[in-house]
Amino acid sequence: VSRSHAAREPTVALRIAPALVFLLPPRLRPRAGELAVALDGTSTLVHLLESVGIPRTEVGSVTIDGRPALLDTIPTDGQIAVVAAVARPQPGADRGFLLDVGLGSLARALRLLGLDARYRNDIGDGELVAAAIATGRVVLTQDRGLLRRRALPAGALVRGQGTEAQLADVLHRFAPRLAPWTRCPACNGVLQPAGAETVAPMVEPGTRAAYTQFATCPDCGKVYWRGAHAAPLERRIAAAERAVREARHPGRT
Ligand SMILES: [Zn+2]
Repeated sequence: VSRSHAAREPTVALRIAPALVFLLPPRLRPRAGELAVALDGTSTLVHLLESVGIPRTEVGSVTIDGRPALLDTIPTDGQIAVVAAVARPQPGADRGFLLDVGLGSLARALRLLGLDARYRNDIGDGELVAAAIATGRVVLTQDRGLLRRRALPAGALVRGQGTEAQLADVLHRFAPRLAPWTRCPACNGVLQPAGAETVAPMVEPGTRAAYTQFATCPDCGKVYWRGAHAAPLERRIAAAERAVREARHPGRT
């Protein structure tokens, strides 16, 4: 990235959408309205955007000199590229999510809402990308380097520090169909309803007497019931449902 000087090198002007400016290095943010980026004759738009910190997964439509352009276009001297953020809500949540290391509590929060959120804290980038290719899942990560992997079929850079902010970002981005209480928060298994007599050996008699709705996880064997923790969880679920409605129909809720 360079400024244009008297003996100028070829450049393309990038006009970056406000929603993507936070990805730029601080020194470039004030110039995001029109950022001059040096051209080497071989770099595509996606390379140029990555060179200023913007992964392709975060980019929506792009125009060059007013015409729609593909991300593998090689810009020429003097052109102006207008770069939009990926449109929200974005499709793909139905294929399920694959969460990068460090996002374990986001995975649990997504599973509580019934979202298919696979997570392992012991796999490397290569294995994660291979799993994404094999399953078609959307990779959720806070690592921009991972999103530069060409082989990655679909990914999203999760905004926010802390589970609550990250969950809000994912719900706003994908507006997924929620199915609360259908998935095991611990392991992502699909819960099976179970009668009190089935779970009797695994549950304290007091619990058995107090609750009638039980479910078991066929993958890890955990037993769930609507217990004392249900009220705060129900509030979180209601908030998530509102967030998804708002993401689908902004301003109507
Ligand atoms: Zn489980």
